[in-house]
Amino acid sequence: MSLTLDLPLYRTDVTACSRCAKAVTFEHSWKTLDGGRICAGCVGEQVEAYRLTTVADREIPF
Ligand SMILES: [Zn+2]
Repeated sequence: MSLTLDLPLYRTDVTACSRCAKAVTFEHSWKTLDGGRICAGCVGEQVEAYRLTTVADREIPF
């Protein structure tokens, strides 16, 4: 994947969180693997969900 220079994105441009649809600036949103952008709150949730998934998948030695 490459960035196109004819479509400049600015850090202060507003986009919508692809998870909760809240308006966020690029500066305060994170790119997801599927090409969307999510807000800080959803990043926190995603990270937490991922951590829980990895914990759930892992053998706990006691
Ligand atoms: Zn969000």
